[in-house]
Amino acid sequence: MTAVYLDNNATTRVDPRVVAAMLPMLTEHYGNPSSAHESGTLAKRAVAAAREQVRALIGAAHVDEIVFTSGGTESDNLAILGALAARPGRDEIVISAVEHPAVRTLCASLARTRGLVIHEIPVDAAGRIDRAAYQAALSERTALVSIMWANNETGTVFPVADMAAEANAAGALFHTDAVQAVGRVPMVLAERMIDLLSLSGHKLHAPKGIGALYVRRGIKLAAQTIGGSQERGRRAGTENVPGIVALGTACALAAASDDTTIAFLRDRLEGGLLARVADSWVLGDVEHRVPNTACIAFAGVESEAIVRLLDRRGIAVSSGSACAAGSVEPSHVVRAMGVPERFARGVVRFSLSHETTAAEIDRVIETVPDVIAELRADQLESAA
Ligand code: PLP
Repeated sequence: MTAVYLDNNATTRVDPRVVAAMLPMLTEHYGNPSSAHESGTLAKRAVAAAREQVRALIGAAHVDEIVFTSGGTESDNLAILGALAARPGRDEIVISAVEHPAVRTLCASLARTRGLVIHEIPVDAAGRIDRAAYQAALSERTALVSIMWANNETGTVFPVADMAAEANAAGALFHTDAVQAVGRVPMVLAERMIDLLSLSGHKLHAPKGIGALYVRRGIKLAAQTIGGSQERGRRAGTENVPGIVALGTACALAAASDDTTIAFLRDRLEGGLLARVADSWVLGDVEHRVPNTACIAFAGVESEAIVRLLDRRGIAVSSGSACAAGSVEPSHVVRAMGVPERFARGVVRFSLSHETTAAEIDRVIETVPDVIAELRADQLESAA
């Protein structure tokens, strides 16, 4: 049984208030929002209320800019494929070297199958994006830019507002995967040039399998799921009403929450571990990052072994991205930052939530140094 859960960038616990809000949509108001009877009308109203809650959290100007999807991956796919289809004539996409596979693998497949040119903008050792390379990559051939708001492994926040303005000046659309940023970074999309933004419920204490895509008014988007006229023709299929209500509630809770404690606990964790473990190093841009993520490299040890030993002691963390779990190779994010080999295999991500307590952090600060010492001693023994 996990006692300390510090893997909130992989997924979060569903907030009991979110469960309470969604349950009646499963058992009482289970009508189809497209149906004309009372049950359908109630479901339709609940979807409308949730759309407003999502709009409010991201500061969008209009509720009709929110399209509900099945999560971050679908939102990324709909944004990229939908925007491309609606913009013939331009055949280049600009992404960063540290995008989530939902963007990166899709773009690699577009290069293979449709011959699109993908520009991958490098990052520096601190995870900061190379702005000069970005500006140089933009041209009249750029159809779309897709740059994440916050990185899932390091928590580094990119200057997406400025980058969106630059994309706009080149006549390109700007999409941001904000799955790790929504609810953790203030955003007022109404004041930005961001055209498309992806978010996911399960990173926000809503269930898995629900998300949304923000589509700025006036942006043409070709639907990728064809069928009924739900979501104003942008995503066919009967709405996941319980999930949508859950996402709306989670967004309202996130809007009302204060992240000061999370940042304080994250800093305490980093300070505590760096002071107690020699040869450890915080990865990412510490000046610009989400408040809940600490990504630490421990020299000379394998992160998979750290994760396993911590798990036995009731502490859940992750080695790089959850999607890359099981692989012994350093993640593409760690590689892109050029982390020295000695550190690259020992990267551990600790990701907090508003449920994390000081007592839990102190337990982690006590446990991790023991685990690292044990692993380093094993290494010395096997080398002897
Ligand atoms: N984008 C980022 C940055 C993520 O961290 C994740 C989830 O790990 C996703 C996209 C995919 O979201 P989902 O799991 O909702 O498909």
